[in-house]
Amino acid sequence: MHPLVSKQKAYFLTGETKSLKMRINTLKKLKQVIKTNETAILNALYQDLGKSNYEAYITEVGFIYQEIDHMIKRLPKLSKVKKVKTPLTTFPAKSFIMREPYGVVLIISPWNYPFQLTLAPLIGAIVAGNTAIIKPSRFSYYTSNIIKNLIEENFPEEYLAVVLGGKDETEELIDSKVDYVFFTGSVAVGKQIASRCGNLLIPYTLELGGKSPCIIDKSADLDLAAKRVVFGKLMNAGQTCVAPDYLLVHESVKDNFILKLKTYIDKFYPHPLSNDSYPKIITKHHFERLIKLFYDEKVLFGGKFDADNQKIEPTIIELDSLEHPVMQEEIFGPIFPIIVFKDITEVITTIRSFSHPLALYLFTNDKEIEKLILNNITFGGGCVNDTLLHLATPYLPFGGVGDSGIGNYHGDYSFKTFSREKSVLKKGKVYDLQLRYPPYDDKKLKLIKKIIK
Ligand code: NAD
Repeated sequence: MHPLVSKQKAYFLTGETKSLKMRINTLKKLKQVIKTNETAILNALYQDLGKSNYEAYITEVGFIYQEIDHMIKRLPKLSKVKKVKTPLTTFPAKSFIMREPYGVVLIISPWNYPFQLTLAPLIGAIVAGNTAIIKPSRFSYYTSNIIKNLIEENFPEEYLAVVLGGKDETEELIDSKVDYVFFTGSVAVGKQIASRCGNLLIPYTLELGGKSPCIIDKSADLDLAAKRVVFGKLMNAGQTCVAPDYLLVHESVKDNFILKLKTYIDKFYPHPLSNDSYPKIITKHHFERLIKLFYDEKVLFGGKFDADNQKIEPTIIELDSLEHPVMQEEIFGPIFPIIVFKDITEVITTIRSFSHPLALYLFTNDKEIEKLILNNITFGGGCVNDTLLHLATPYLPFGGVGDSGIGNYHGDYSFKTFSREKSVLKKGKVYDLQLRYPPYDDKKLKLIKKIIK
């Protein structure tokens, strides 16, 4: 067993992590540690991904402040024992559900929002009363290291700890039979994690990715749609799991919509290759992968790149086939593929031909179209007339379905994810119905059939 896992298992058994006071104090301390080191965290995010302080604040650090505040407010109520009804057949008795932490939780996080996607599940693990081991991504080197330093300097390792590394380190931790695994990352690695956990019967959550469609209906407010699509697509230069991946645009509004897309790209990120608030692509590998997706294409807008700084201009391409390479994988970069449709039913067929997406965005002013899409397409979560914002609220569960993930979190849902429901029936002693006890005969059967019919 990995020494950290055995240390944390022993500490968990002391019961200290379950104390409400301790959980709230840990959250308060975590917030204070982040506040004290906020500048260093923002700097690390700039070094890893070229995120501006503003972008890093709203999508990473500020997001965590909100989650902590929400949890401090909600925890006393969430952790209460819930009384439920008791059926006549078990009379006399009381029934209740206790929320119980799993024990040692392993949190595996990716590089694209390296602070938020590590700390948000950590908050869930803490509020539910677990200990936690964090395994951040090696590609977000600076942020992963600062997280490690902050946790190590401020919390005992038997409670919260960080392990840096990749596949081998992660596998060793899982094989030490942690009590819960929370994984955020790619579908391919998610499958490996699931199968490893499955073999050991370790419960898990998978927060994965995929191709999230964005529909621009002919009734949409085009200016607003273009503005919000550019906002959602270019946040972190497209390296967002819920970024609008491809755009399905009604043929009657295509030209006007593309014009407006260009206007907002220019307005939000002028001179993107030298613009300090326009993020870079995380690694050379991903940079080259993205270039290949549009290099031989007729580019409608953008298309230039800077290999030294790993930056790619926001690039619009029009597709005439779903077989195009850009449709064979999650893009995860600043490429806007446009696919034209004539009838909304084509949209449903197209989206259904891919795995269930993590997110779906619909721009429309037509209530019937809205109903048709929401009722006929399965997706993790999404927005009508906006992008990304469904994950910026603690009141909506965030997660995928099938290939885009298993389980969810954020706000109250994080508490639910990191704790389990322990059912208890507390039986009265005074009255003891003899009917339940052997020997069984026809008379008893007749009687029981009057009660259970
Ligand atoms: P990744 O799957 O390569 O890595 C995720 C984590 O797993 C990292 O910590 C990595 O070190 C570790 N890892 C990598 N290979 C492993 C292996 N074989 N065994 C065990 N652990 C391993 O993902 P990534 O490239 O860091 O992140 C991008 C992906 O994450 C995209 O697909 C994106 O859509 C997805 N994502 C999903 C969400 C969400 O909330 N649903 C959020 C962000 C990113």
